Amino acid sequence: MDKQGLSREEVFQELQGYQKQDLTHRSGKILGSMCTCPHEVGRDAYSMFLESNLGDPGLFTGTQRLENESIDIIGSFLGLNKVFGHIITGGTEANIMAMRAARNYSGIKNPEIIVPKSAHFSFKKASDMLCLKIKEAELDSNYKMDLGSVEELLSDKTVAVVGVAGTTELGKIDPIQDLSKLCQERNIYLHVDAAFGGFIIPFLKELDYDLPNFDFSLDGVCSITIDPHKMGLAPIPTGCILFRDEKYLDVMSIETPYLTEKRQSTIVGTRSGASAAATWALLKYMGKEGYMALAKKCMEITKTLVHGIRELGLELITEPELNIVAFKSKKMSIDELAQKLNDREWAVSISSYPRAIRIIVMPHINKEHINKFLADLKQITVNY
Ligand SMILES: *Cc1c(COP(=O)(O)O)cnc(C)c1O
Repeated sequence: MDKQGLSREEVFQELQGYQKQDLTHRSGKILGSMCTCPHEVGRDAYSMFLESNLGDPGLFTGTQRLENESIDIIGSFLGLNKVFGHIITGGTEANIMAMRAARNYSGIKNPEIIVPKSAHFSFKKASDMLCLKIKEAELDSNYKMDLGSVEELLSDKTVAVVGVAGTTELGKIDPIQDLSKLCQERNIYLHVDAAFGGFIIPFLKELDYDLPNFDFSLDGVCSITIDPHKMGLAPIPTGCILFRDEKYLDVMSIETPYLTEKRQSTIVGTRSGASAAATWALLKYMGKEGYMALAKKCMEITKTLVHGIRELGLELITEPELNIVAFKSKKMSIDELAQKLNDREWAVSISSYPRAIRIIVMPHINKEHINKFLADLKQITVNY
């Protein structure tokens, strides 16, 4: 460390130098991320509440109201007006909280969870931290959780079944309705990971897209993960965990001796109230119509991309249900294609199962970006 501090100007000049090395969403080059440019309304609300700590909510009663109201509003578009939960750091923390609630609630020794093979890797972290054995259910031919496989994996040690609404790699929606029925019959906790899908599926359904039910309108669903920092346009870090019943928060609450609240259920202690303020601001500013328009725009651009990929004779892995597209070439390996796209500065990602080029048409991607991308893809593939 330097003995004497730099001037403010020097510090910010250096910061700018580092920032220039980053990619930006604005450039349209980031095609393989579930994050996006935060909306300016969320950004301004966030910076207004930098000082507020929801780990000690008695000191920040206004911010706590913003958190509670955000939870109510999100619950209301996920099928239930009264839900319980928190605005937290992201989908990972939400999934860990849900698994912790399910495990503690069941009280079962040597607990097991059943997740689809397509589940996000955060469940591996949850399994390691909470000493849960993971059993992976197979997928059907549409890459959705196979119900028969789930039934085979169920045991008297199962503490939770997880279904995904909008899988990270392919954007698929598992058969939550069937899972809900099955879990209700067997009295097993069902968690829905809608980290990605939660801020787009409900609005596409409002627009009459033919998508299945996945939320608290299904009686077996005990908790839902939904990330405002993905399709909700909030700044990072902003996740959300919702429970049908307050008892699931209670079974994992810990006494907090010196704070203004008696007990705490979140994993993180000191936590940013800015995320709650940004979520609230965006829910109010966007309204249902704002999120519907956003969902529609992303799906229309997705359609353009899918059409272009087909025209080039490339192979779609599966028909996209949401704004995620995975494809491959019959002639070129996935890695080679990804590298050639990368050489042209397109930051695509590679899905692991099945291996494919994966593109998420997030709100920062517009038609011009996609047309430029398709032109490059044509040059790379046509004369190969
Ligand atoms: C992104 C994602 C997560 C993890 O969320 P983070 O905010 O990155 O922690 C979990 N599940 C699904 C389905 C996701 O898409």
